[in-house]
Amino acid sequence: MNNEQAYWLPFTANRAFWKTPRVITGARGHYYTTDDGRQLLDGFSGLWSSGLGHCHPRIVEAVREQVGTLDYGMAFQVANDRAVALASEVAALAPAGLERVFFTNSGSESADTALKIALAYHRARGEGQRTRLIGRERGYHGVNFGGMSVGGIPGNRKVFSATLLPGTDHLRHTYSRADMAYSRGQPAWGAELADDLERLAALHDASNIAAVIVEPVAGSTGILVPPVGYLQRLREICDRYGILLIFDEVITAFGRVGAPFAAERFGVTPDLITTAKGLTNGVIPMGAVIVSEKIYQALMQGPDNAVELFHGYTYSGHPVAAAAGLATLQVYREEDIFARARALEPVFEEAIHALKGAPHVIDVRNFGLMGGIELEPCPGAPGARGLEVFLKCFEAGVVIRNGGDILQFSPFLDSTPDELARIFDTVREALGKVA
Ligand code: PMP
Repeated sequence: MNNEQAYWLPFTANRAFWKTPRVITGARGHYYTTDDGRQLLDGFSGLWSSGLGHCHPRIVEAVREQVGTLDYGMAFQVANDRAVALASEVAALAPAGLERVFFTNSGSESADTALKIALAYHRARGEGQRTRLIGRERGYHGVNFGGMSVGGIPGNRKVFSATLLPGTDHLRHTYSRADMAYSRGQPAWGAELADDLERLAALHDASNIAAVIVEPVAGSTGILVPPVGYLQRLREICDRYGILLIFDEVITAFGRVGAPFAAERFGVTPDLITTAKGLTNGVIPMGAVIVSEKIYQALMQGPDNAVELFHGYTYSGHPVAAAAGLATLQVYREEDIFARARALEPVFEEAIHALKGAPHVIDVRNFGLMGGIELEPCPGAPGARGLEVFLKCFEAGVVIRNGGDILQFSPFLDSTPDELARIFDTVREALGKVA
């Protein structure tokens, strides 16, 4: 007999899930269809991934066309035209100086790729002793060993603690409820937290440090917005000591913060940017690492016909994914999506902060079209209240996300004010019903 529960869901309580499974069978625009025929308003844009809405006709058409033209092409020693074109467009959109694009299949792969490029860069320049990697508490850089090691989520690390990468350190995270509760946009307090990097540089000697990786706005751990001046200060310290700065923009790139990249919005240019999700509107898995010309040139050494970086994936630059990416970027451009997302930000900010004072709410924060509502945890059952709100909203026809007791919001980049109102009305109602 077939095991109807063979599917092992990621980051999910599987035993609980299969008692009351939630299954979707279709999606269009801003709505999912469930297996029992209900329509759900998607308040999370997939998983931060699908800002243009589901089954966007232009992307669907591009994928359909590509899969019948060039379904796959050997990734090593052979380029395909779609990957060539997409790399050029991504580089054109990136901050000046970030000129080269290495394709991956996910955010996790982008993180590990970026860390490896950073190590290879220093070695190529004769500084092979620079091997230490620095992340941040409450950072998320995916689940592979590199990203997990520089990541700062205790639950993700606990079981693998003995096998994390050696030589990693973490800056403190940038959240302090006492200093920034209910702040709108960037908190004024906290730029000095960046000086943790200065302390680590002193402790280990900066000449041993390869790179620092941070999310410009931490997403998965509950929308931790960088204090005013914080990212600038990280950049300054990195420059002082020759440490590479990596921005993990898997969430924040491609319009989520009302700009092509958070780097542009914050006015801070890192040495490498990791992306995924919005690169293809989530339609086909694809990620990319965008690399500065300085790093690229340092690695282009040795005989002309020697491989410069021993790294890559079978599906790097997959032509169908790249076609989805090209169509996605075209829609962003033609529909002026980044500017529209920026214009929607004040509407979103008002809508989410209206939940201040609702039952259980202890903080509300937002930046771009990213928002978090933090709940007082249930005594003895952390995360239970957040999960209950997620489930109640799902029943009521709205999909949000809970990261423990922090409700997270990532509306479509072209949401209407009515949709935003519906999302937060539903949450308010759910909050009134949970214990
Ligand atoms: N980095 C960040 C900042 C992310 O938010 C995520 C996923 N939410 C990842 C990396 C990992 O991406 P993926 O799940 O595609 O591996």
